[in-house]
Amino acid sequence: MKAFEYATARSLDSAPQLATDNGHYFAGGNDLLGRMKDYITDAKILVNIKSLPGLDQIESGRDHWTLGALVTIAQIENHPGIKKVFPGLHEAAAEVGSQQIRNVATLGGNLAQHSRCWYYRHRDIVCLKKGGDTCYARHGDNRYHSLFTGNTCISPVVSNLGTALAALDATAIVRRSGKEARLSMSELYHRAWENPLAHNSLDPGDLILKVEIPTARGRSAYLQVSDKHAFDWALVSCAVAAQVSGGRLRRPRVALGCISPVPYQVEAANDFLDGKTLDEATVSKAADLVLANAQPLEFNGYKVPLAHALIRRALLKLKG
Ligand SMILES: Cc1cc2nc3c(=O)[nH]c(=O)nc-3n(C[C@H](O)[C@H](O)[C@H](O)COP(=O)(O)OP(=O)(O)OC[C@H]3O[C@@H](n4cnc5c(N)ncnc54)[C@H](O)[C@@H]3O)c2cc1C
Ligand code: SF4
Repeated sequence: MKAFEYATARSLDSAPQLATDNGHYFAGGNDLLGRMKDYITDAKILVNIKSLPGLDQIESGRDHWTLGALVTIAQIENHPGIKKVFPGLHEAAAEVGSQQIRNVATLGGNLAQHSRCWYYRHRDIVCLKKGGDTCYARHGDNRYHSLFTGNTCISPVVSNLGTALAALDATAIVRRSGKEARLSMSELYHRAWENPLAHNSLDPGDLILKVEIPTARGRSAYLQVSDKHAFDWALVSCAVAAQVSGGRLRRPRVALGCISPVPYQVEAANDFLDGKTLDEATVSKAADLVLANAQPLEFNGYKVPLAHALIRRALLKLKG
C-alpha cells in the first residue's frame, strides 16, 4: 500500500474540502482499504467520515424511514422495526459477507463500493474501467458478469442494499456542491449504465448522507444465490416489494442485482404485476418480461434461469 495522509472530517462542509485533492471518504474501510492494498485505488488522503454527526441514526416515520449513511449493515440486519416494515431490506443486509464485515460496513459504503470484476481488481490489468481500451471480461472469463449493460463494461453492481432499496423505491440524499441532491437508486447508478469508467453516479466529493425509504410497499422480500454460503457476493439477487391489498399487488417492483451495472428493473414487468394476484403463471410471466432482453455471454448464461427462479420465488414470498 502506498503512503497516504489521513484526516477526520468533523462537519459536512469540511468533508468535501478535505477530500478535494484526490481524497477518498473512509467509512468502514472494507472496500476502500482492500483496493488500496491491491494498488487499485491510489488515494492521497483518506477522509474519515465516521465522526460526522447525525449520520448513524435509523429514524422511523409514518410515510418513510430515514437511514443515515453511517448506519452499519449489522444495525440494519438487527433492527426489529426494519425486519417488520422492510423485511426485504433485512434479508438483503443479513446476506452481506460475514458478521465481521456487517459489523463495520456502512450503508453509504455498501452503496458506493466499486466493481468486483476480477480484471478490474487485478493490479496489473488496465481495463476500460481504469481508463484502458479493452474489456478483458467480454471475451474472457465473464461468469460473474452482466446480462444487461448500456456500455462496453459488463461489470454488474453487487450491492445487496442497492438492490433491496431499488425495489422499495428508496431515495439517496447526497450532499453535492454544498446542496442536497435526491437520487433514486436508478439515478444513483445510472452513470455506470452508460459510462464504462463509472461505478455509480457520484461525482468526486459527493457524500451520501442518508437514504429515505417509503413505507407504502408493506411487503418486500430479497433472495440471492451465491457460490459460497457466506463471505461471498451474490451470483444473482432479486428484491421485490409491493403493497398487497385483497390479495392483489399494488405498485409492485422487481429489482435484480449482480446482472447489470444498475439494480435492474423493467417497467413492463412492474406494470404487468400491478393489480394481479400471485400464482405460478403470473410470476413466471413477470420473470419472462424482466429477462426478455438478457444478453448472456459465453460463461454467464446460467444466470438467466437462476434469475428467473429467484424472481418467481421472491414474488411468491409476497403472498405472506
Ligand atoms: C469478503 C467480502 C464479502 C462481501 N460480500 C458482500 C455481499 O454479499 N453483498 C454486498 O453488498 N457487499 C458485500 N461485500 C462488500 C461490503 O459490503 C462493502 O465493502 C462494504 O459495505 C463497504 O462499506 P464500508 O463502510 O466498509 O465502505 P468503505 O470501504 O469505507 O467505502 C467504500 C467506498 O464508498 C465510498 N464511501 C463510503 N461512504 C460514503 C458516503 N457516505 N458517501 C459517498 N461515498 C462513500 C468510499 O470512498 C469508498 O470508495 C463484501 C465484502 C467482502 C470483503
Ligand atoms: S467488465 Fe468492466 S471492469 Fe471488468 S474488465 Fe471489462 S471493463 Fe474492466
